[in-house]
Amino acid sequence: MHCWNSKIETLDRGGIERMQLSSLKGLVSRLYECSPLYHARMREAGVMPADIASLEDVVRLPAMTKEDLRDNYPDQLFTAPPKDILRYHVSSGTTGKPTVVGYTRKDIENWSESLARSFASFGLGDRDVIQVSNGYGLFSGGLGMHYGAEKLGAAVVPASTGGTKKQIELIKDLRVTSIACTPSYLVHMNETAEDLGVDLGSDTMLNSAILGAEPWSENMRRHIEGRMGIRAQNCYGASELSGPLFTECDQQDGIHIWGDLCLVEVVDPETGEHVGEGERGELVFTMLQREALPMIRYRIGDLSEIEWERCACGRTHPRLQRVTGRVDDMIIIRGINVFPSQVEHVLGSIDEVTQQYLITVESQGVLDRMTVQVELDAVAFTDDILALRGITAKVSKALQELLNVRVEVQLMEPGSLPRFEGKAKRVIDKRVVM
Ligand SMILES: [Zn+2]
Repeated sequence: MHCWNSKIETLDRGGIERMQLSSLKGLVSRLYECSPLYHARMREAGVMPADIASLEDVVRLPAMTKEDLRDNYPDQLFTAPPKDILRYHVSSGTTGKPTVVGYTRKDIENWSESLARSFASFGLGDRDVIQVSNGYGLFSGGLGMHYGAEKLGAAVVPASTGGTKKQIELIKDLRVTSIACTPSYLVHMNETAEDLGVDLGSDTMLNSAILGAEPWSENMRRHIEGRMGIRAQNCYGASELSGPLFTECDQQDGIHIWGDLCLVEVVDPETGEHVGEGERGELVFTMLQREALPMIRYRIGDLSEIEWERCACGRTHPRLQRVTGRVDDMIIIRGINVFPSQVEHVLGSIDEVTQQYLITVESQGVLDRMTVQVELDAVAFTDDILALRGITAKVSKALQELLNVRVEVQLMEPGSLPRFEGKAKRVIDKRVVM
């Protein structure tokens, strides 16, 4: 195994947790002493720095949400002196005020270190040429990847987004071995390359992609890897936490979350209580080393699970499974949490239908009724009633098995459901609020 920082990356769990506790204590004391805002919040929650005696005590600290960043626009949550701020990134957000993230020199150093470890974990090194096709500028994706790749000693092609034909030329001419971008952009780039008669898998040196900044599925990974013959690595991060931060290793069995930099909890999205180890819930991040904007117990809204078992690669840090939904997207049907992404996942595994769907939830007496309209694949389109019944039964069985909720399935003609240019609206909730 090649590690960027093997001493840290293979430290046992006890050792990692001791580092986390020591950093957490230091962070809480510093904020209590130096930041009037954190000081007031801690007093309000009735917690003093001395109360943090074990990692479990983290739950006593008040959680933060995106609202806190917006309410304290632009920089009231910053805890480093203005002279120490080296950079700002700003995310526009779909509603309300943007959020501003500041970085000190050490913050940028730790961010780059996190990505350098991650890139090395799937085999990248100083011989690689990494094309960064994430946006450069106020968005943290491009520059984040750029600094991580430079830290690793790789050569960087700062392509940013757009100009797809030019991007393909650069991949060929500069012997690019890895590309960082969104999964949908990579698919688009590959289609463009095919139209130009270029096979990105065999006509270039490209052998891996670092994909993130939008949700994607295992089906998408299989599509990309099968079609292009390259490895598709999942990347996780968020602007509030710095930007892109962590990726999978070569085992592709969860994203290594570097425990010395970040403490991650998993909570029930409704009660805020910790779920059991290995159970799914909302992710809560505390960035232990950040100076300018140390997020404490940041409820990010992503749903997933964490595993602490040693990875087959030998690394010991907790692993994040694929994010399967957002708290905002969750619908509760007959007491069971249902996510549109689960429906999408099921539909992706059935050949006769497309992934175009619409969920409608209605009240039926005191109960909820869930209907999923789904488009037939053009190839499977038929007026044979028996065949259609068979497909309906197959889809509804697969959905019920995964969701544990009774689902009514309606097959629709290809192309008949609404299309969306921006964020798709997949759920219509018509329930009467009692
Ligand atoms: Zn691993």
